[in-house]
Amino acid sequence: MTQAASDPPPARDEPRRGALPARTEAVLDGIYRIPVPLPGNPLKELNGYLLRGRESDLLIDLGFRMPECREALMAGLSELGSSPERVDVLLTHLHSDHSGLADEFGENGRRVYMTGTDIDYLRGIRSGTISRKTRARFVSEGFPEDVLAEVENANPAWKCAPRRHEGRFHALRDGDVIAVGDYRLRTVLTPGHTPGNAMFWLEEQKLMFTGDHVLFDITPNITSWTGIEDALGDYLESLRKSRAFPVEIALPGHRKPGPYHERIDRLLAHHERRLAEARGVIGDQPGLTAYEIASFMKWKIRADDWQSFPPVQKWFAVGECLSHLDYLRLRGEIVCLPQGGIRRWYAAGFPPA
Ligand SMILES: [Zn+2]
Repeated sequence: MTQAASDPPPARDEPRRGALPARTEAVLDGIYRIPVPLPGNPLKELNGYLLRGRESDLLIDLGFRMPECREALMAGLSELGSSPERVDVLLTHLHSDHSGLADEFGENGRRVYMTGTDIDYLRGIRSGTISRKTRARFVSEGFPEDVLAEVENANPAWKCAPRRHEGRFHALRDGDVIAVGDYRLRTVLTPGHTPGNAMFWLEEQKLMFTGDHVLFDITPNITSWTGIEDALGDYLESLRKSRAFPVEIALPGHRKPGPYHERIDRLLAHHERRLAEARGVIGDQPGLTAYEIASFMKWKIRADDWQSFPPVQKWFAVGECLSHLDYLRLRGEIVCLPQGGIRRWYAAGFPPA
């Protein structure tokens, strides 16, 4: 990684253990996890990872643009003898629980990296062009406009995203290598969870930073994305590609690590079951909207019934349902017929002509 002339002097060699409550933990020699709380979010915490170098450090993922996240991240950096002036940032994807605090980084010759696809997509979201189309799709899929208004008020994806930094992100492509200290991280493009989602691979250590592409005790949300025809198909293809890496240590963006290849097999099987579930609902009840189909699918949410789902959870559920419907429609298994501006879903061949 290039070093700017204005670099601050290297920080002390050893992390400053004991100066603050030890919230960070060592993962490998020179690699640390920084837990960042996500207030009010069922994910609970983001895992930031710091890789210590000589003149600079590398930080993977950041947390929401919220005071609680900023405080925890900065305390973690300080505990490890680092600071925003010393770190370059690698973002696994555009979601604001990962990118939100980007405004705090990338000054004085330091850089914030994300894939070019996610940079462009984030720009589209911020300019409103993508958000308008996404909104129109959800309405056409039966999502009630009053619930949508509540989502727009509450969804942290809109409120806690970076405000001014996104124009200065540096673009990564598949295979790009970022070096820090003795570590060389290779960018592995894995579209699906977001259009330009990435993992970062340390070949020598057989270590993969999986971001949200592979999570272990929760299932990554796969939603429909405006302008992306087949998000679930992309995700499943990315999972198969990821499976070929001889990963021995997998460090996820949330919660605990686990066995990588086994987890990928389980995620592939999970989506097969979800596809079967969607097929079943459509076969049993032809002509439902996606909003209604989602209400008949099973969700791991603490709520008595669909009516009592929080609006944001309804948004995620319908988005995930849509990614499965798109997948089935593109493979000729189901069709959708607009009726009065609302899209209704049927098994292929139904209703009879
Ligand atoms: Zn996340």
